[in-house]
Amino acid sequence: MPREPAQYLLRLDDLCPTVSAERWKRFQSLIEEFHLQPILAVVPDNRDHELQVSPPDPAFWDRLRALESAGASVALHGYRHLCTSRGRSLVDLHRVTEFAGVSAATQRAWIAKGLRILRDHGLHPKIWVAPRHGFDAQTIRALLEEGIAIVSDGFARRPFLRGGITWIPQQLWGPVEKDRGLWTICVHPNTASDAEIEALRNFLAAHAARFTSVDRAVADLQPATLTLVERIQAECALRRLTLSHSLRPIRRLGSLRKSKSA
Ligand SMILES: [Zn+2]
Repeated sequence: MPREPAQYLLRLDDLCPTVSAERWKRFQSLIEEFHLQPILAVVPDNRDHELQVSPPDPAFWDRLRALESAGASVALHGYRHLCTSRGRSLVDLHRVTEFAGVSAATQRAWIAKGLRILRDHGLHPKIWVAPRHGFDAQTIRALLEEGIAIVSDGFARRPFLRGGITWIPQQLWGPVEKDRGLWTICVHPNTASDAEIEALRNFLAAHAARFTSVDRAVADLQPATLTLVERIQAECALRRLTLSHSLRPIRRLGSLRKSKSA
């Protein structure tokens, strides 16, 4: 377990040229104001109409390149963000996802095509962020074959190794003060409310110095296999999250507010 104090990572999901222009701009302002080096989870070939919020921004890729140059880490966020597969994920939060359960050959092709698109835009993706947390052993194998060695997911309190790949946990969907550990706060510019953005701003004003980057987190915290106790803690955290939505049918988890999605 890392020593105190806690460190945080910010992750912005569902980025593509049609992201909400107004709210994406507000998040970019926070990144610049507080000198953050977040994870930028980009959909390479978006076909999900829920992510078509604003007209395509011709400057979108320029902005991403600038943010990456300033230290942000670009993540491959699925391929087309179309969730139609019912396979079981390694992070069992949603019943219908884009990747879990899809054939190995198709996953490999989607990951290769997605990476090619991002690289053709001059980006250097090095992390995987699965739409709706949906990925399986075949996904990890394809990622490793394509040179991606880090996933952002899971409910442990520190980076860890599992299935031959490094996991940087993602446990929060809004700022929560913690004593120790590494906590990734996932936000969705398409759906973030004014109150949620203001809460993040207030948290950053108090704790910006405790926000780290992917590179620093991996270097400082040296991922290793979780202990049995840590695995149980992570499983309990996942179950608490699932149970917190128990009044809704599990099958509808995938259509919950994006703040609990990915
Ligand atoms: Zn997503």
